[in-house]
Amino acid sequence: MKDKLVIGNWKMNKNFEEAEELLEDIAEALEDWVLRSTVVLCPPFPYLEMATDYADESGHFACGAQNCAEFEDGAYTGEVSAKMLHDVGVQFCIVGHSERRKYFGESSENLSKKVNLLLENDIIPVFCCGELQNEREHGKQFDVVSAQIKEALFHLTAEQFEHVVIAYEPVWAIGTGLTASPKQAEEMHAFIRTLAEKQYGTEIAYNLHILYGGSCNAQNALELFMQPNVDGGLIGGASLKANDFLAIIEAAETVGKEE
Ligand code: PEP
Repeated sequence: MKDKLVIGNWKMNKNFEEAEELLEDIAEALEDWVLRSTVVLCPPFPYLEMATDYADESGHFACGAQNCAEFEDGAYTGEVSAKMLHDVGVQFCIVGHSERRKYFGESSENLSKKVNLLLENDIIPVFCCGELQNEREHGKQFDVVSAQIKEALFHLTAEQFEHVVIAYEPVWAIGTGLTASPKQAEEMHAFIRTLAEKQYGTEIAYNLHILYGGSCNAQNALELFMQPNVDGGLIGGASLKANDFLAIIEAAETVGKEE
């Protein structure tokens, strides 16, 4: 089993001072760790340059953005391009988070363009997918996730797809305190891996990182990460406190060492 990937999504939280404090606390705590897992912090845009400075100095984590424009450059007021993110040292970028699909109307068409631009700029897209509560209640979760992945990612070549991370985030579990059970997570992750295998072959599917996101916290991370197809987590609320986030990284490390 490959090493785990743990990504913190700060969303639109923290003022400048608080952001610096959190970066400092995490960088300091990780200083003595010999990490097998990859740790990524995704602060809001204005803190990215500070975060990449901390990341460079620490060498123990990388930085990600929470979104990027679907256009290369030009008159798109308020947007931030993949190239700009690359230029400040961003290595990962969340794409298609359910909050962006819901509040900003992002479609698969928008997302596929963002994925293309990120890959062109050597940034790893962390592609989010997941069903709504009523879709699960009607047994539609596999159809929904399969359509989201096929529509936004399956135009990629195998060489491109190798650089993509998928995060399964059931929408009913995001920020709600409801977590998918380890069995529900494993079932969906195995489904996603099979989907990738059919399109890109066994080796690429095996190497694909499929993260779980949705109220993952210090208490439930270990059991989720122990599932064979769960390669780490995309963490929202619990990434905002250094100790909680560190405990999740520790869970990833524990599983990594047992395997
Ligand atoms: C997220 O927003 O990606 C997320 C998983 O949030 P939370 O952990 O707070 O549910």
